[in-house]
Order: sequence, then C-alpha cells, then structure tokens
Amino acid sequence: MCYAIPAKLIAIKDNRTAVVDYFGEHRNILFDAATDNVQIGDYVYAQGGILVRKILQDEAEEILKSWREVFFELKKTDAALASIDQSSLPTNVLGVLQKINLRKSLKKEEMLALFDGLTTPNELKVLYEVANNVRQREHGNASCVHGIIEFSNYCRNDCHYCGIRCSHDVQRYRMTIDEILAVAHTAIDKYGFKAIVLQSGEDLWYDEQRLTTVVKETKKMGVLVFVSIGEREPEVYANLYKAGARAALMRFETSNAEIFAKLRPHTTLDKRVDLIKKIKEIGYVLATGFIVGLPGATNIDVVNDILLTRYLAPDMYSFGPFLPARGTPLENNLSPSKDTVLKTIAISRFVDSNANILVTTALETLAAAAKREALLAGANSMMINITPNAYKKMYAIYDNRACDTQDMDNTVKDTVDLLFSLGRAPTDIGMTVN
Ligand code: SAH
Repeated sequence: MCYAIPAKLIAIKDNRTAVVDYFGEHRNILFDAATDNVQIGDYVYAQGGILVRKILQDEAEEILKSWREVFFELKKTDAALASIDQSSLPTNVLGVLQKINLRKSLKKEEMLALFDGLTTPNELKVLYEVANNVRQREHGNASCVHGIIEFSNYCRNDCHYCGIRCSHDVQRYRMTIDEILAVAHTAIDKYGFKAIVLQSGEDLWYDEQRLTTVVKETKKMGVLVFVSIGEREPEVYANLYKAGARAALMRFETSNAEIFAKLRPHTTLDKRVDLIKKIKEIGYVLATGFIVGLPGATNIDVVNDILLTRYLAPDMYSFGPFLPARGTPLENNLSPSKDTVLKTIAISRFVDSNANILVTTALETLAAAAKREALLAGANSMMINITPNAYKKMYAIYDNRACDTQDMDNTVKDTVDLLFSLGRAPTDIGMTVN
C-alpha cells in the first residue's frame, strides 16, 4: 500500500517549481533543480508539496494501473459526503457561512459568532458540512498520511500540562540511531510511507551531530523528513535543513502569553514564536498550532490561536485538545468537549481554506469516533504513530493515548480503511495549481 500516488511531471516553471499530474488533477510541487535531476515526463513521489523521489516509469505505471479505478471511485464517495443542508440555521450565522462560500475572509467577531452561536447538534452538523465542503473545494479528495516516530521521551522542559515534563518521575527511553532508522525503514519499505516525522522531548543528548546522522540517513530512504524536537538554536535547524530535513513541526501551544508563562516555566511565547518564524524563513514546510482548552483559556483564546497560526503562514495546522496527564500539576483539569475541537477545525478551514489541517491522536483519545468526524469537518491530513509499542507507552504526554495499543500493521490498516470509507486518496496535498 502506498501513501502517495506517483505523479507525472508535466511542466517545469523555474528552478524551484514544477507541475505534476494525478489522473488529470494538477498540482505545484517544489524541487531543487541542482540536485533532483528530474525532467518532464518523469514519474515522482511528492509529499508536503516537495519532490521526494523519482520512480522508474514501469514501476509507476504498474502502481497507477492499480489505482486508476479506485481513484475515481473514491472521488465519487468524497463528493457525495461533501454535500450541505443549510436549513434551520440562525440568520446571523447564515450570513457568515455565505461569506465563506464567497471566499471572503472572516472577521474575529464572525469567528467568535460561529464558536459561541452554534450549539445544537443540527447547527453543528451544518457547520461541519460547510467546512468539509470547503476542504473538498480546495483539496479535492487528496489526503496525506505521515508516520511519526517518537524517538526519546527525555525532556529538559517542565511544561505543566505534559506527562513527560522533566520533574515527572517517569520511565525514560531513548531509541538508538539504529533503532530509529530500522523503524523508518520498515515504515517506508513495508508500508510505503513517504514522510517520516522524528519527534522527541527536548533531549539534548540528541545533539546536532546525532540528529544530523538520523536526518541524513532517513532522507536517503527517499522521503520527506519532518523534525519535531522542540526549541533548539536556529543554527541547529538551519544545519538540519542542510542535512536534508524539509519540514518542521512546532506548536506555539497557546497565543495567550499569560497562560503560556504560567504553564511553560523558563520559556516565553515570544521566543517560541520567533523560532517558528525562523524555521519558516530557513525554508522548512511548517506545521504549527496549539493546544485547545488549556485551563484558563476561553473561546476568544481559541480564536486568537487560530489567528496566530494563520499569521505564521504554516503549510499545516496541528492542534488537539488538552488531555490531563497523571502526576502533572494539571492532572485534575478537564478536557474541552469534542465539539470544541471540531469547531476549531471547521473555523480554521474557513480562515485558511488552502491549509492542510491535521487530525491528531489527542482528538482520537478524547473520543474514539472523532477522527472520522474531524475528516468530515475540514481536516485533511493525518500523522499516525509508528513508534514501537514498548516505547510508545512511555511517550505519555497525556494518559491513555489512542495509539498506545496498536502496532504499525493495525494502525496502517485502520487508516487506509478510514480514508477509503471517506473517499479520500492518499495523493500528496501540495499547493493546488491556479
Ligand atoms: N519537544 C517537542 C515535541 C513535544 S510533544 C516540542 O516542544 O515541540 C508534541 C506536542 O504534544 C506538544 O507540542 C504539545 O502541544 C502536545 N502535548 C503535550 N502535553 C499535552 C497534553 N497534556 N494534552 C494535549 N497535548 C499535549
């Protein structure tokens, strides 16, 4: 099973951009004319809007043959699920939804009106349908699935919400470089992943040199390498980019500076936001976002979180609900409701219609069926956990993570079944061609 459909390169616009074709759908991708060595007519895999690997024509045509029929079937299912029934909505909200249909940008008050004004199951249903419709309009039925390896739960930070904060007495682990590469290898060779996310606590044992080795070796496997390693010097990020990392995931966690200061001792919101901006400037595909429903946060904070995410202009939105972790200062605090998170997804889709929006494990942990609901409320991407089970349990940032009991085989099977039942095809979702 492949997590990206081969694309055919049909035009090269300049030294950085090419246009690829997926069964008649055209998308822009970025490539590096100096090293990628591709020509018009070549078949390639792309991830996150970046060319990751050239494929032999015979191999590509063979894979495409098996996809052709499925691809068009999936499109039909997706289109049927993206219809809307707008009857019985409050009129002020209808006006806002009208604006969305006309592709006009929403004001902060209008975002808040959607948050506060829609409460009944029927109203929420319409909100999610409209978001799903916008998702379909912008991305078609394309979706991408990235594999995440949590390679160390050592962390120098003491964030109040996090189960692996340094002052929490938990069993620590650190995968060896060989172990990480072996997992990446299986994910890529056996399951066809085209993007690998390397995530850890802020573990300085994994210094620039060791991280460079992991990035370089993973990159050699022909995939998009994502890093999610927390706050490091900008030079470390610049050097990892040189080593081949092309995407970075770093949430700012909350746009509310007071809450940030309270929950993340010895760090500041400004510093984290600055680093996120620098990561983007280096050239990384950026995934950023926040935690929904941290203690003390209101709906206005969530709206500000969405707006700060948009301001940072990421390629991918990553946010999930706060979930309490035993043994942390916030262990007795409550999580937000599932609908608060689904609303956040829907409103993010309206605010940044072209962005990729992730469904996160935290949402699935909050409510088992929510992964599907999120994909039908504006979300279009997934990061699935491929950390070996023995380690996964110890990356306990919150309790009872939904992914903890599944192995790679089951996770992949469930994901493919879910995507197919929704009519989504795992093409890469790069920028759409205008
Ligand atoms: N060290 C990296 C990765 C941290 S773990 C970094 O700093 O970016 C990935 C994410 O898990 C964090 O960014 C945070 O948003 C989320 N997280 C941590 N504890 C959580 C909790 N209790 N509930 C929900 N999300 C949590």
